[in-house]
Parts: sequence; structure tokens; C-alpha cells
Amino acid sequence: MFALISDLHSNVPALEAVFEKIDALGVEDVRCLGDIVGYGAEPERCLDMVRSRCKFSLRGNHDWGMFSALDEFNSLAREALVWTRKRLKPGLNPLRWGRWRYLKNLPERVYDEGDLFVHASPRDPIREYVLKSDGFLNPEKLEDLFARFEGRCFLGHTHQPGFTGEDLRFHPAVGDEAQLKLPDGKAMINVGSVGQPRDGDPRACFCVVRGDTVTYHRVPYDIEKAQHLILQAGLSPFLAERLERGR
Ligand code: ZN
Repeated sequence: MFALISDLHSNVPALEAVFEKIDALGVEDVRCLGDIVGYGAEPERCLDMVRSRCKFSLRGNHDWGMFSALDEFNSLAREALVWTRKRLKPGLNPLRWGRWRYLKNLPERVYDEGDLFVHASPRDPIREYVLKSDGFLNPEKLEDLFARFEGRCFLGHTHQPGFTGEDLRFHPAVGDEAQLKLPDGKAMINVGSVGQPRDGDPRACFCVVRGDTVTYHRVPYDIEKAQHLILQAGLSPFLAERLERGR
């Protein structure tokens, strides 16, 4: 049994609420699928919490944005990444260097007991979006992705909780404690987003995997506090406002 979190996006109020719930459920093994930083106001604390609590974290596109060119990000994401870089740049401080090195050395793929873990997709672990609509609009893409792993691939990146099976359909996780039983064949399972949900439910999202069942938990948190921190930091008001819409 293990818990999966992804797309935290520097949202500490959401992450605290999620860790509290994970502890209440008695789950020890927590794994993070990336995008620890970007968009939100508390990248340092978010990184420290992940480092101390998670078995591993993967590299998300926003994490890699600390070290890469930013031209493939939209202007909103880019602006937040520039702000985050300024905050995290280590200077001469050893504590800050520890964080910076951790972020830089995050792995792109982890294999564990036959499962593959990536941030984005099995063929492009950092950038490619596996979309809900791919089954209708781009079935060849999904077939190619399924050919690249055995069994199960856990991922994040789209902030849309649910899984895509070999039927090429997306099975969404909706509402409280949604339990999805995975099919016998292969599946790509999206764990949703802790810090910036975009499926219309503003509560933080994470999941627990037990055998072939994935249970999605939605956790209310202090959204106003996260919004206040974003505005106070001088980040775009849109980033604050979207948190309460979950879009
Ligand atoms: Zn993300």
C-alpha cells in the first residue's frame, strides 16, 4: 500500500492537509510524482516537506524549469518560474544548496515492483500530456504509450484524476473517496493534483493504491490562506483565483 501525491505547486496549506490525511489513514509509504514547485508562494517549505516525508519524488516540468530554458511555458507559468528561481537560488547558504541539489537531481523515471512512475508520460516523462480526449482524438498516441511499459504507469501533469485503460477510455475519479478498480491489462493512472486541482473540485487530491484498487481522497484546505500568500508574493492574481474554482 502506498500514497501518491503530485503537482503540489508550492501550495503548503494544501500539502499540510494532505499529509495530515495520509497520516490519519496510517499510510507510511508516500511517493511524489513531481511539480513540487511553480505557481504557488512557498517553494522552500514545500520542498522540505517532500524531502522529509516522501520515499522519492520525480522531476516535473516545473521543477526542471528551475534549470532549463522557459520558452515552452506559457507566460503565466514562466512568470511564476522566474519568481520561484529567484526565491530558491542558493547563493552561499548550505541549506539552500541542499534544496537546490535535491531539485536538480530528481529522477525522471522510477520503476518499483513492476510499476512505472513518471510525471508526464511513459515516452516523455517530463513534458507530454496524456489527455482525457486522446482516446477519441489520438488513439495511435495512446497505443504507442501503452507499448512503452508493462503493467501500470502512475503519472500526474494534467491535474485530472482518473485512469486510461487499454480500452483507450478515460475513467475519471469523481467526488469523495472515489474507488477505481484497475483492469487486468495495462493502465495509465493519473493521481490528480494536490496544489492546483483542475477538475472543477477545488479540494486537494491524492490517492492511495492498495492491490488493484486506487482510492482518491479529496481534502479541504485553507484556500484563502494559499490565495493570500500568492497575492502577497506579487504573483499573478489569476493563480490565486483559480484555486477556489479548481480550474
Ligand atoms: Zn503541474
